[in-house]
Formats: sequence, structure tokens, C-alpha cells
Amino acid sequence: MEYRPTIGLEVHAELKTRTKMFCDSANDPDEARPNINICPVCLAHPGTLPVINRAAVLHILRMGTAIGGKIADFTEFDRKSYFYPDIPKGYQISQYEYPLITGGELAGVAITRIHLEEDTARSIHLPAQAGADGKSLVDFNRAGIPLMELVTEPVIHDAATAGRFARELQLLLRTLGAGEANLEKGEMRIEANISVSKEEGVFGTKVEVKNINSFRSVERAIAFEINRQIELIESGGNVVQATRGWDETKQSTFHQRFKEGSADYRYFPEPDLPKLYLSDIPEFAHDALRASLPELPWERRARYAERYALKENDVAYIGATAERAEFFDAVTEALDNSKELVALAANYIVSDLGGIYAKKDSEDYASLDPKMFAKLIRLVSAGDVSSRGAKDTLMHLVEKGGDPRVIAQEQGLMQVHDTTVLTEAIRVVLAEENKAVEEYRAGKEAALQYLVGKSMKATRGAGNPTVLKELIVKELSLK
Ligand code: ADP
Ligand code: MG
Repeated sequence: MEYRPTIGLEVHAELKTRTKMFCDSANDPDEARPNINICPVCLAHPGTLPVINRAAVLHILRMGTAIGGKIADFTEFDRKSYFYPDIPKGYQISQYEYPLITGGELAGVAITRIHLEEDTARSIHLPAQAGADGKSLVDFNRAGIPLMELVTEPVIHDAATAGRFARELQLLLRTLGAGEANLEKGEMRIEANISVSKEEGVFGTKVEVKNINSFRSVERAIAFEINRQIELIESGGNVVQATRGWDETKQSTFHQRFKEGSADYRYFPEPDLPKLYLSDIPEFAHDALRASLPELPWERRARYAERYALKENDVAYIGATAERAEFFDAVTEALDNSKELVALAANYIVSDLGGIYAKKDSEDYASLDPKMFAKLIRLVSAGDVSSRGAKDTLMHLVEKGGDPRVIAQEQGLMQVHDTTVLTEAIRVVLAEENKAVEEYRAGKEAALQYLVGKSMKATRGAGNPTVLKELIVKELSLK
């Protein structure tokens, strides 16, 4: 029997709020100067008291509602004790027994719980050669920023599913306005618990992998760790429960430390904060929360599939980021929701625009006017611009903006429908291409294609090839 991998994810995400989790220092992830957004509370001065940030609680409750989790009637915060220079209280305020949310499901993965805690400060370890003697510095701007922790059940069995889940979670956080969740910026941090087992229904010993900084690394780290564990067991070794780090350069995991049990953290209820009886708070009632949600990523995808009959791949591509989806929605509106035009627009967004952005390695929907994009789609649909001409017009639109009709006219990309104009151009071509004309008359099909190509060139792409072909045949049959 083959080894069956099992994966459970633990995800931390910084929440977007005006102030920090337990004080009124600003929550500003863009603050580059160290130790600006600080106060006695998040610096853990003795005698200071925390106050719960209502907006952070609301983010978690909306998240929980979105994934169909159960909202706690009763919840409290706990102290999780550990010493670290970036955690000056000597404990982190987190949640243990009574998380805000239990259960739910996202991207087919069962959720165990979602709770709220505070972020730590940021340690910066200077290398010795920086003239700083290898000192460590601490920046407290991040200390006390509200942090969501989401834990999944061990129900994932391959790296791709874990990657899909993580992407969907980022999209959901962004859709809800709960966080930016950039992995590269550490706004979302994914820890993967991985085990392998040959025995049906029995889990192997799990290893936790940290320091994963991109979605691609989520998949690679998991794949690497699955292989490492299988090879270890096959060579007669045992997997030891431990925390390992992901080394991006070496593309491998390495041992960091053996795991502490939860008993070591000495969890106990935070005495400085009130207990929360959530069902007593009208704003947190289920109906109110549900009503506050925007269209969720999967609802949006279902709408695209049902309303516009888009292909599954197109739905997945357009629905993958809020920027794409919002752009697409604006385009559909500008196209009056015409199913035919929207299908054409989806095609151009996925293939042509997607291609342009892929080449640039960045997407910039914000500076592309959806009305102008829609106008281009109408020009294509009416046959006023060829698909070739549309590509050039679109490139121009992305680079410089403007009106697609004006662009196409200026660049000579408009299709000419006037057959007398086209016929005139064809006559010039035929007069010059005696050899091809003779070959055509002798029954050589390729000669006709050649003449169409020459005529397209002569009309600078303005002639529709099908129309040109018809006109050439007609013209030659007259002689
Ligand atoms: P711990 O007490 O070590 O923190 P938990 O039971 O809280 O372990 O689980 C932490 C994470 O590890 C969860 O995401 C869970 O789904 C996952 N997990 C638990 N057991 C396994 C296993 N055997 N293999 C893979 N993942 C696991
Ligand atoms: Mg745990």
C-alpha cells in the first residue's frame, strides 16, 4: 500500500483595523519607521490595561459567518505564556478554550476553529558585518496588531489542495475587507502540519513547517516534506514531532525545534478583559452578520457560471482576485449584461489582457477603464476591428489609455466595410500579382490565400480576410 499524506493548516492573518487589538495605537502595516505606532499598552508597561477592539471581533465573526462556522455564545481571551524578546508581556493574549468560531468549511476543507489574538513585535537580527556587531533590534509597530488564527482539520491529502485553500482564504479575507493577507509581506502566515501513514485511518507523526512566504512555497514545502518523511520511514527511521522551517533558497525544510505541548504555555483566562456574551450583542446576531456580507468568492463564481455561462477555467481566472472580478463586473455592466458580448469580453480578459499582464508580470486593472474596454468589445463584435487589430488596440489601451475607436482609427486598425474601397485596393494588387493570378486560374488554392494576404497588407489590416477573399474571387471571375 502507498503512503497517504495528511495535512492540516494553521493560518495567521493580520486584520485591517484602524487601531491595534487592545489599545488605540494605529494599526498601520505601511509604517516604515520603527517604533512609531506604540503606546504603554502595546509596550507592556506595568499597570496598563487592554481594551478589546470591537472591529477586530467583527472581522472574525463575519469570517465565521461566511464559512458557515458556529459563532460562540460565550467567548473569552486567554494568556499564552512564553518568553521572547518580541513579546514583552511574557505572554500573548490569545484564545484557548472558547474560540470565537468553531467549525465551518472553505474550499472543501473543514475548519476546526477561528480565534483572535495579538501579533508580536518584529525582531530584526542584524548581520555582524553591517557594522552592528550582530545586534538584534525590536520594532513594536506590529506588537498588538489584531491577528486571526484559523486552524483546519487534518483533512487535506495533497499539496495542490492546500495551495487552493490558502488562495481562497486570501481572497475571502480581501473580499470581506478583513485583511490584505499578502504572504510576501507576512500579513498572512501559513504553517503546514504534515504526516504520512500507510495504515488506513491511522495518522502518522506530524511535523509543522513554518516560514512559508508564497503560495507556491506552500505547495513545494508540503511536497518536499511528504517525500522526506516517506524516505525517512523507508530507510528505517522515525518521524519526530518537531517544527521545521522552509528554506526558500535550498527549497527544502530544516529542523528548527522540538514542539512544546500546550501545557507549557500555561494558558489561563485573561483577568484584565471582560468575558464576551456574544448572543447579547445585536450587531453580532447571525442575521445582522449575514446581511453585512458582500458577495462571497464562491457566490460570485456561481453567478458568472450561471448568468453568463462562462467556461470553468474563465470563471476560475476572473474570480481569482477581487481586482479581476470587479473589473469584469464593471465591463458586464457597460455591456448591458448581454450574454454574447460578456462571453466575448471574458475571452479577451482571460486570453488577451491576461497575456499582456502576464508578460508585464503585474496586473493593473485600476488604470484600465472598463467602459473603454467594453467599447473595444463592441467594436470587435460589430466586426469594426479585427481580432488582430483588437490585440493592438488593447495593448495601446493598456499602455496609454484612450478611446478604442480613436486608437483603432489613428492606428489604421478599423475594418473597412465599404466594398468599393476594398475592391479598389484589390484591383491594384491583382494588377501587380500576375503570376499568382495565373496560378489561381490554374487551380492553385494557395495562390488565393497569397492574394488575400497581399490585399490585407494593402488595406493595412483594415479588410476582413473573409470579405477580401470573396471580393477577390468575384473580381477574378469577371475577367
Ligand atoms: P497541536 O496540539 O500539536 O497544536 P492540533 O491537534 O492542535 O495539534 O493540530 C494542529 C494542526 O495540525 C491542525 O491544523 C490539525 O489539522 C493538524 N494535524 C493534527 N494532526 C495531524 C496529523 N497527524 N497530520 C497532519 N496534520 C495534523
Ligand atoms: Mg494546536
